[in-house]
Amino acid sequence: SILVFGSINMDVVTPLQRLPRPGETIHAGDIMLAPGGKGANAAVAAARLGGKVRFAGSVGTDSFGLQLRANLEREGIDTRALRDSTKSSGTAVILLNQASGQNSIMVGPGANAEATAPADPAWYAGAGMLMLQLETPVEAALDAARHARSQGVPVMLDPAPALPELPRELLSAVDYLLPNETELATLSGQPTDSFEQIVQAARSLVQNYDVREIVVTLGAKGALWLNAETSLHVPSIPVKAVDTTAAGDTFAGALSVALASGHSMPEAIRYAVVGGALACTRRGAQPSIPYRVEVLEKMSA
Ligand code: ADP
Repeated sequence: SILVFGSINMDVVTPLQRLPRPGETIHAGDIMLAPGGKGANAAVAAARLGGKVRFAGSVGTDSFGLQLRANLEREGIDTRALRDSTKSSGTAVILLNQASGQNSIMVGPGANAEATAPADPAWYAGAGMLMLQLETPVEAALDAARHARSQGVPVMLDPAPALPELPRELLSAVDYLLPNETELATLSGQPTDSFEQIVQAARSLVQNYDVREIVVTLGAKGALWLNAETSLHVPSIPVKAVDTTAAGDTFAGALSVALASGHSMPEAIRYAVVGGALACTRRGAQPSIPYRVEVLEKMSA
C-alpha cells in the first residue's frame, strides 16, 4: 500500500474579470469549492491510479474539514491517521483573473501547520512507499521519513513548495526526490535553464546530499531520471493542456504506485508522464486526476 503524509486544503476558486481595489466590492463568477492540497492530491492520484492508500495529516472540524475527510473516504482512502484540529481547515483562495489568464493564490495553512507524523509503527509497517511534500512542517516530514525507514519503507519526496534550506538529514532519508525545474534550481543553487544545466544540477544533489534517485519533472518535456550510475529522459505525450494544476501530484502518485508494484524506474516514469499529461487536459486539482484505465488506454493507443 501507499502512505501519504501531507497537506489537505479546500480550494475556493473565484473567477473574476479583474482584481478588486482596496475597499471595493465586485461581482465574481460562480465560486467553486474543490478539494486540494498537495498531500491530498497525491493520495487521490495514488488511489485512482491503482494504489491502496492511507493518508495522514491534520484537518479542522469545520464544514470544510468534514467535506475534505468525506472526499478522501469516497476515493477509498484510509483516513484513520487524519487528525482533527481545533484550527480551521487549510484553505486556498484562488483568484482566476479571466481577462489576464493569471491566477493569484492565497493559502491559509490552518490545521496543516499542526500536522505531525503518525507515531505508531503499525501505520508504516509493510507499505510500498511513503509520499511526502513540503506543505506541512518540515520537521514532521523528517519524522515521518525516519519512521518509514526504520520499517524498511522507501520514501518519496516532492520538494514543493520550494524551500532553499532543507535539512540535510531529510534529503539523505529520501529514496526518490521529485523536484520540478524551479525546485531543482532552489535545492541545488544552480541554474536549470537548459537540459545540460538540469542534468548538472541533479547530479550535484546526488553527489552532495546522498539522494539515491532523482526524477525531475520537466512539464511538457516529460521527466529526467538520474542516479549515480545512469540517466534517462522520458518525453511526455502531446496533449492539449488547459490547466496544469495537480500534474506534479498526479505524476508522483502514478510513479509511487508503479514502483511499489514492482515496475522498473523507466516503466514507472512512462506511466507517470502519461498520468501527468492527462491531468493537464482537465481543469482543477482533484477533478483533473485520471484513473488507471484512462492511463493504460492512452499508453496502448
Ligand atoms: P509541477 O506541476 O510540479 O510543476 P510539471 O509541470 O513538471 O510539475 O508536471 C508534472 C508532469 O506532468 C510532467 O513531468 C509531465 O509528465 C506532465 N506534464 C506537465 N505539463 C505537461 C504538458 N503541457 N504536456 C504534457 N505533459 C505535461
